[in-house]
Amino acid sequence: MERIISRPIPQRGCHQAMSFSPAARTESLAILTYFLNNTTPQELHSRFISALSGRLMSPVHLENLLSALETLGIVTPVVRAAAEDNTTRHCVRCHRVYVERHNSGRACVIPHDEVQLYTTGTAESGNAGGGPGQVQGPIHVRGYLPCCKAPLDPSHASHLPAGNHFVGRHTTMVANVAYNATNIKTCTQKGCGGAQE
Ligand SMILES: [Zn+2]
Ligand SMILES: [Zn+2]
Ligand SMILES: [Zn+2]
Repeated sequence: MERIISRPIPQRGCHQAMSFSPAARTESLAILTYFLNNTTPQELHSRFISALSGRLMSPVHLENLLSALETLGIVTPVVRAAAEDNTTRHCVRCHRVYVERHNSGRACVIPHDEVQLYTTGTAESGNAGGGPGQVQGPIHVRGYLPCCKAPLDPSHASHLPAGNHFVGRHTTMVANVAYNATNIKTCTQKGCGGAQE
């Protein structure tokens, strides 16, 4: 097989002379490998995101970066198609309308229900017979989250736990949704007409 002698032309806009020697390749590989092995996924992600909108990112850099990532199969045709898809969809979890390019792991957010307060114990500790299911002893206020079907930490009875009930991607598939009839209802229960069941 005939070897291609001429090297690919460095992408337009690159002013620096590029070296394609094996030594340079080894060095570049070592630098990138070291970088990846010493950068957390979160740090890599945040640096990538800020670089995309940073002032150093010229249109040429952007095009070269995307081109390289597509050539390497890191950015796949599916990703390109999703990002360019203008179809509006109805999320069967939060019931909002979205286009896929606005979807992300933090796009669909469902807060917890309000905390329900209830008491345990009886007024006269130890003496008065409590009703069924009642615990004898001092009265304590407890919190309960209907959405999670979970009691709250007794020391924070009236406070919501940190975070939301659900944070994730919007979806059009009911199989992806954990309905609970309180804060995550079906399209039928919501009457929103967005059901694609
Ligand atoms: Zn919850
Ligand atoms: Zn959603
Ligand atoms: Zn709906």
